[in-house]
Amino acid sequence: MKKPLQLNPPKVVRGLHVIAKPIGPMCNLNCEYCFYVEKTAFHKTCEDCRMTDEVLAVFIEKYIASQAAPVVEFVWQGGEPTLLGLSFFERVVELQKSLSSTKTIVNSIQTNGTLLDDKWCLFLKQHDFMVGISLDGPREIHDYYRVDVSGEGSFDRTIRGLRLLQKHGVEYNVIACVARETARHPLAVYQFIKREGVQFIQFVPIIERQPSSVEQQIGLRLAGPSNLEQSEENKDIAPWSVIPEEYGDFLIAVYEDWIRHDVGKTFVMNFEWALNTWIGNPSAVCIHAKQCGRALVIENNGDIFACDHYVYPDYRLGNILSDDLHTMVKASLLSGFGVEKESSLPRFCLECEVLTACQGGCPKQRFENSHDNEPGLNYLCPGYRKFFLHIREYQRAMTTLMMNGLPVSDVMKAID
Ligand code: SF4
Ligand code: SF4
Repeated sequence: MKKPLQLNPPKVVRGLHVIAKPIGPMCNLNCEYCFYVEKTAFHKTCEDCRMTDEVLAVFIEKYIASQAAPVVEFVWQGGEPTLLGLSFFERVVELQKSLSSTKTIVNSIQTNGTLLDDKWCLFLKQHDFMVGISLDGPREIHDYYRVDVSGEGSFDRTIRGLRLLQKHGVEYNVIACVARETARHPLAVYQFIKREGVQFIQFVPIIERQPSSVEQQIGLRLAGPSNLEQSEENKDIAPWSVIPEEYGDFLIAVYEDWIRHDVGKTFVMNFEWALNTWIGNPSAVCIHAKQCGRALVIENNGDIFACDHYVYPDYRLGNILSDDLHTMVKASLLSGFGVEKESSLPRFCLECEVLTACQGGCPKQRFENSHDNEPGLNYLCPGYRKFFLHIREYQRAMTTLMMNGLPVSDVMKAID
């Protein structure tokens, strides 16, 4: 069985990782559900928000030096990082070569795919970049939310980018966002992505709240994180947010199709991660890990934040030009961010039958109260619960196969 590749977001949970946003929130698209494009409110002074050569060089040097492991993984995101042009990434590779010493460098880039061309793909292939491309499903589903500033859908441009990646043999995976409408078409989404020849898929639920009047005044269009220890008053969900039960139903419908036809052939990372945790390994992703806070974000100006969902002034940890990465991670873990994910779980979670699989989900989405009125429950709880309970029997069967030295894919025959 081919080994599943690690996708970009959500973030890994061990060691120290930094996701780079070398063009800040700038993007050529204007997807309705994007949580990052509003960060332009914090970037009033930058014109194109391009990371300077000084910041880039210091980041690459400090990041390589901070890694104990022999392999150093760089993740480039945006906004849309390809807006920086190939020359920026040629410089990235040049700096990495000169600063890597004995370490091996691995790069991945997250893109909407619309600006990819042959030149880009030749470069990505030559330097072994792993590409995460955002594709939500067939045209009518993808274009429902993924539009440019003039409101035009981006499907054709993204598919063209995907085909170019395939043509040049670039390693890639698909990141499919599950917003409200998308969740209503699980099989249309999954089967379309499979038909496009994609082997690695990750589903990302979309959840945002409307901003408070104070947030609106500073130019934000979405609410920031809530305090996990206090009841959150603002439960005004943005209309594109997925409905919790529908997210659970979406995952279940895809799982039911996958477990019958695609085990060992198509890697849905959400399912791979669930099985990985079920067999006793620590979660590979932050949202279902006990704690988070080790995957920092560097903005184009060198500012470091605890997570790309926490790019707000209150969560700024320092700047790459003046501060040490390990010190910033320590501050991130102890500031009430990373450790608090575990320490603030409501009793309802602590007594939950699927706690080991779920771990309460991402703190950014924990703005609900539990049935006994404790704060800090995840908005997606009903969906997570439904999904993790549903797949238990299948996971038990796959574990038995593994323990008997049989391929996990035999589960498909057993179901037949
Ligand atoms: S807040 Fe924590 S769990 Fe949520 S995305 Fe950030 S690192 Fe992951
Ligand atoms: S399913 Fe709900 S109750 Fe259970 S751990 Fe997840 S968020 Fe908590």
